[in-house]
Amino acid sequence: MVKVLSVNSGSSSIKFKLFDMPAEQVLASGMIERIGLKKSVTTIKWDGQKFKDIRDIKDHEDAIGIMLVFLKKLEIIKDFSELQGVGHRVVAGGEYIKAPMLVNDEVAEKVRELSKLAPLHNPAAALGIRLFRKLLPNAISVVVADTAFHQGMPAKNYLYSVPYEWYEKYSIRRYGAHGTSHEYVAKEAAKMMQKPLADLKLITCHLGAGASITAIKDGKSFDTSMGFTPLAGLTMAKRSGDVDPSALQYVMNNSDIKDINEMIDILNNKSGLLGISGVSEDMRDVEKAAEEGNKRAQLAFDIFEKNVIKYIGQYIAELQGVDGIVFTAGIGENSWSFRSKVMKDLAYLGIKEDRDNNDTFGKNVFISTPDSKVKVMRIMTNEELVIARDTYDFMEKSPAEKASANVTKEQISR
Ligand code: ADP
Repeated sequence: MVKVLSVNSGSSSIKFKLFDMPAEQVLASGMIERIGLKKSVTTIKWDGQKFKDIRDIKDHEDAIGIMLVFLKKLEIIKDFSELQGVGHRVVAGGEYIKAPMLVNDEVAEKVRELSKLAPLHNPAAALGIRLFRKLLPNAISVVVADTAFHQGMPAKNYLYSVPYEWYEKYSIRRYGAHGTSHEYVAKEAAKMMQKPLADLKLITCHLGAGASITAIKDGKSFDTSMGFTPLAGLTMAKRSGDVDPSALQYVMNNSDIKDINEMIDILNNKSGLLGISGVSEDMRDVEKAAEEGNKRAQLAFDIFEKNVIKYIGQYIAELQGVDGIVFTAGIGENSWSFRSKVMKDLAYLGIKEDRDNNDTFGKNVFISTPDSKVKVMRIMTNEELVIARDTYDFMEKSPAEKASANVTKEQISR
């Protein structure tokens, strides 16, 4: 058995899960928040216990060092050498990361270069990769990109209707996001439906703070709602989703917003459920306020729900039918009332809600009745596990295969 860390490095936080592989047992999970600020918070959960530490953590290197030391102090690991694999989540893999990749210097540099496609996310991932390689020189590193699953999309679905040279010169295209989650829940759905994934037409709805919907055909992503960046598609917690670009020009011509970066920041951080409701970015607060009669909160709920219905409808048309619809992530997994509303609006497809199953928590279940023409499922996503699995796969591979992945001799001899 080996221990594998699954890591998600953000600009001011690092989240991790430690797995015992191949048993897929979670040994610990945790998070370091407020990196670079005063009173940074480290939390670690393991074996039914919880540990919290507050101190100033000056940078990511400091944070990873502290995290590793705590893992040892809390006796979750005996020695750092037990950590043999580290899998990193990368938001933008561009057209370079089409599948999980073993990290060598070239791959690490590519992740950094791809920061131009995800300036808020990739620099932190690149930093995390560099630091874990430095601090755990005996572990292999693997990158798993959020965009990789969508690399299978046909060009007719990933190209925008803009001058073709933009694609050639600037790589402007739809990359999508949440690919690890969409692929994972699609595979789980196929298991539940007891059919090969390749034979199913599925629509997976990842509805969390960030939200995206994917149409899956032949086991591959066929179309997806997020675009060049994760700003596009559905209304989200704070993100606008799709907007006519001319509206931005109009506001900029008629307000004191003159900088496009400021405008994009508004679309990323002050829009979506928060912008419409004026109450909160959190669906729980929005639903509560709507129940209490807040009209704008009700409107935010309705717009989000309409967006979901609209994309599902569009993808049914593109797929020429659908066998199963999956709900996952924060809202998709936890809000029975949201799922219930969507299912009512999809009744025309022969979908009937299984109210008892829809009311349950924390399990993968069919939430449509057995006689429903289209199966609807609530599936708990597990991106960290996918990253750990992909990392472990590389650890299992022979040195020859590692060599073909273009790693250095030193790495192979580890
Ligand atoms: P992300 O990983 O994108 O940050 P999550 O998938 O964890 O987000 O989803 C977080 C969101 O899920 C919260 O902001 C909240 O809106 C929503 N959420 C969580 N629990 C519930 C619930 N019981 N009812 C409605 N929404 C919920």
